[in-house]
Amino acid sequence: MPSSVEQKIALARQKMMSEMPDVADKTNIGPMNWLEKAIVPSNAVAVTSPWTGGISYNPSMMEGRAQNDIDSDLAHELTHTRQIKSQSIPQRFLSGLKNAFSPSSDYNWRPNELEAFQTEKDRALKLGLSQEGDIQLQGLRKAR
Ligand SMILES: [Zn+2]
Repeated sequence: MPSSVEQKIALARQKMMSEMPDVADKTNIGPMNWLEKAIVPSNAVAVTSPWTGGISYNPSMMEGRAQNDIDSDLAHELTHTRQIKSQSIPQRFLSGLKNAFSPSSDYNWRPNELEAFQTEKDRALKLGLSQEGDIQLQGLRKAR
């Protein structure tokens, strides 16, 4: 039996098939494993692997989240998938290192993050949705 979180993720992916067909189709999306849970900030709802572009979500953070917010989360992470897939393996390695050693206070201002938040804003505008908060508040619930 799929949980309601799984159903919402599946529905979000379905929507992204038309909004971001280049990445929504082939990207692996699944719950975080124990290692990801250990290294990702505990308030992160989802992360994108800097190596594969695959997306892992935190089921306990997703619990109770509205469908619109989960759609937005997925659009954000798929933007990162797109960024990663456009990089060569050495480039992925270098940007992974750079992120690991940059202060987390810089998180919201990384170019990759700005682009991902812009994806969320553009969607919200286009669909006439209200946004959860400003860019800073959103940053608090996401990891790279
Ligand atoms: Zn991000």
